[in-house]
Amino acid sequence: MQESKKYFDAAKKVMPSGVTSPVRYFEPYPFFVKKADGCHMWTEDGQKLTDMCCGYGALLLGHRRKEIISSVASQLRRGTLYCAPTQQETELAKLIAGNYASIDKVRLVNTGGEATMTAIRLARGYTRRDKILKFDGCYHGAHDPVLVGAGSGASHYGVPSSAGVPHDAAKNTLVAEYNDSDAMEHIITKNADALACVIVEPIMANMGLVLPRPGFLQKLRKATRQNGIVLIFDEVVTGFRMAPGGAQQHYGIKPDITTMAKAMSNGFGMAAVGGSKKIMDCLAPEGQVYQASTFAGNPVSVSAAIASIKVINKIKDTMYARLAKHCKEMAKAISDAATSYGIPHATSHVGSMMQIFFTDTKTDVIKNNADALRCDKKRFQAFAARMLKRGVFISPSQFEVAFVSNAHTGQDIKKVTDAYDASLKEMANHT
Ligand code: PLP
Repeated sequence: MQESKKYFDAAKKVMPSGVTSPVRYFEPYPFFVKKADGCHMWTEDGQKLTDMCCGYGALLLGHRRKEIISSVASQLRRGTLYCAPTQQETELAKLIAGNYASIDKVRLVNTGGEATMTAIRLARGYTRRDKILKFDGCYHGAHDPVLVGAGSGASHYGVPSSAGVPHDAAKNTLVAEYNDSDAMEHIITKNADALACVIVEPIMANMGLVLPRPGFLQKLRKATRQNGIVLIFDEVVTGFRMAPGGAQQHYGIKPDITTMAKAMSNGFGMAAVGGSKKIMDCLAPEGQVYQASTFAGNPVSVSAAIASIKVINKIKDTMYARLAKHCKEMAKAISDAATSYGIPHATSHVGSMMQIFFTDTKTDVIKNNADALRCDKKRFQAFAARMLKRGVFISPSQFEVAFVSNAHTGQDIKKVTDAYDASLKEMANHT
């Protein structure tokens, strides 16, 4: 990793911690990427890696999917930014609404964080209430009111409630335990008149992978509806990844507002907020809730998203089942291997997402943030380094997730499973 070290030393001089986003840093220094294709990345050190990070979930179809690249190439010839409407924006909004039963109208934005920020403001403007409820460990982007009990890099680096967030900006954020239906119902009932919205990752993918217990999301839907509180499903990770209609299709629940990003454009900067006509029409200019962005609906990202969703719709009947099968088999093989090497652990998987937790709590299920925080994140980081040595890139954080893409073949999955096995064995021999 000599080249990466050289590039990292140079990066540190001009960028805080040498990276552009916290989870990209790991000790002693991260590898630098030269190029990517399919399910592979090549580093500046000449190493070929099987990518199981997949843009933290964005690359559902793998790197450089041909239909997306040609759609974007064709758009590049016609311009990169108009800041005036295009018919393609309408086409994209129709494709999204066509896949999400809960969505009549869509506002396109640029990032997942921008989408959740907009969704929360929209819910507040719609209900004329101030408080919001989020769940401990759920991550909704790096903006003030949701940087409280936040997962992902915020938890990994021990700042789930970030410095720099004024008390006033976070004082209206209530936090509940994920998967605890009684506590959730209690907080909602107690704050019914003040709560604008509840925002939730329907599948928690930022504290490792934590699945909703049967009935939890249904009870949340019921409690919010009964109290006139807007339910926001943050599907930035799960949108288009769990199903063409996201986790809400998988679990059969209709939220009031949905945020999505990542897999909807398969590697291009694009996100969306969608919901019922009544709520969405509160957005400016006709409505009173202000939201705006120069790059929103930029034609390059729009062309990528249209191509991505069209591919997804074309191959959905085989793709989702195949990826889920890969993940299920991989999780079982990894869990069996860890058990055989005497490593205390838990695994979870759903659809094309999977994680192993290094935990010695006497549970084989991680159900909430408290369980996830008891896991050994240093051990996980060392484990990710062992995987890297074997040519497999998984996020170095215990609080992220391994993703399978449509570009991974059975052979790639076997290679990855073997690398998990060998890394677990090595870990057992060294502790
Ligand atoms: N919401 C969820 C569930 C996420 O996982 C993320 C990012 O990982 C975000 C929101 C923020 O998205 P972005 O990083 O595009 O701002």
